[in-house]
Amino acid sequence: MTKKLNLLIAASEVWPFAKEGGLADVVCALAREFEKSGHYVRVVMPKYGLIDKEGFNLKKLDVILKVHMGVLGIIECALYEWRIPNTNIPIYFIDRKDMYDLDGGIYADKNGEPYLNNDNRFVLLSRAALELCKMLEFKPDIVHAHDWQTAAIPVFLNTIYKEDTMFRDCASVLTIHNLQYQGEFYAGLMDVLGIGRVHFNAEELEYYGKVNLLKGGINHADFITTVSENYASEIQTEEFGFGLNGVLTKRKDSLIGVLNGVDYELWNPQTDTYIVQNYSKDELTAKGVCKAALQKHFNLPQKSHVPFLGLITKLVKQKGIDVFAETVCQLLEHDIQLAILGSGETWANFFFGDLNRRFPGKVGCYIGYDETLAHQITAGVDLLLMPSRFEPCGLNQMYCMCYGTLPIVRAVGGLNDTVINFDEHTMEGTGFKFYELTAEALLNTINWAMHIYYNRNEMFKKIMLKAMDMRFTWENSAKRYEEIYFQAIKKKRD
Ligand code: ADP
Repeated sequence: MTKKLNLLIAASEVWPFAKEGGLADVVCALAREFEKSGHYVRVVMPKYGLIDKEGFNLKKLDVILKVHMGVLGIIECALYEWRIPNTNIPIYFIDRKDMYDLDGGIYADKNGEPYLNNDNRFVLLSRAALELCKMLEFKPDIVHAHDWQTAAIPVFLNTIYKEDTMFRDCASVLTIHNLQYQGEFYAGLMDVLGIGRVHFNAEELEYYGKVNLLKGGINHADFITTVSENYASEIQTEEFGFGLNGVLTKRKDSLIGVLNGVDYELWNPQTDTYIVQNYSKDELTAKGVCKAALQKHFNLPQKSHVPFLGLITKLVKQKGIDVFAETVCQLLEHDIQLAILGSGETWANFFFGDLNRRFPGKVGCYIGYDETLAHQITAGVDLLLMPSRFEPCGLNQMYCMCYGTLPIVRAVGGLNDTVINFDEHTMEGTGFKFYELTAEALLNTINWAMHIYYNRNEMFKKIMLKAMDMRFTWENSAKRYEEIYFQAIKKKRD
């Protein structure tokens, strides 16, 4: 029988309390899987003002958590507790109004400007997570930190908490969900961290004269993981390394890619409550009903034979939407339909939002966030576009395959790991890939997929059926993390 671990997960987002990206889902899903395996899990995150507004009635604990913040002195925090939904896992919320109860989102104000005290907000979270363990007398075997916001934890464990009996045997794992965001701040943050300026050097936290929290975490964590195997290799290159490729390459023996999973209770055409009719591999006619319903939703002609393409994404450069914008008008000269759901950069909101006026009867677009529509597009279109510039894991390609909707992806990061490029000779594959991020390569690949859709219908259907068989479960991901935890503990003790 495997040893049961005490596991602390610290993150800036946890579903359903606060979410901006995949991170929130990962934390919740992993915590659930670890509980199923019998581990003792505790989760900690900030108590953002928006959590109350969402109607969560967290329980206030009758304690004050005192957290040393270097030159800022001792910061007193209140503490709230709740449970991860459908589990017995306690989740603790660090409450400090001037840090977390701000008027805006998780990281930025109403105008999208990052909060000026983001450095202190997340250094506080990192240190409070460790003080919380002491208060709870919860001696962790592993602390699992996520992204730059909690990357100071491995640094703290190797410095001020190194000799602390509570943490002497505790190993750390840091997961990078997107290397683009690194938590880079002025050098004075060293004095808030309170670990001593000796750690302000190129082998630890210093990066071109600034403090780079993610770099510190990478250098100090026992293991570093990221959310797909391919992304783990890519981030060691200049193209995808965002300046930290050298740092990551140095730690390549402790850098592992673990693919995110899919919550098949939410994303499954057989049970999905958002779509007009459920369907399965054996009963695909209802997928046609979903297509017709989506066409109706967007006031498009209800033609079953027209290839219907979808795009569900943040409209930001990372997603390659600038390259898609270059091709889309040429694409729309064909007899096709396009459904777009997303929001992001101002130019993109205007450009894509205006397409249905320019190409009436061909484009449906909603600029904004809409969970229901995301499911309906996933089920209703024939092909889903993901021309990402880089993609740590990517979820939509995994979701859409389950719905028999074929992904057209750029072969990067997790997109490359999860989609099998269609091979006309072996007739095997689950989608269509292109390599160069150019308008020409994207257009050629869309044309290739449309050719198969129009002229090789049986082949297209075969790819659909194969795609629907693909499974990316959280159970598998959690097993990989568990192996890494045991390796990390061993490394720490050796
Ligand atoms: P990222 O986290 O980088 O945005 P992922 O592909 O990992 O990209 O995850 C995106 C998730 O967000 C998917 O579940 C997708 O369906 C959802 N999503 C993105 N934009 C929207 C939107 N405008 N409305 C609804 N869901 C969206």
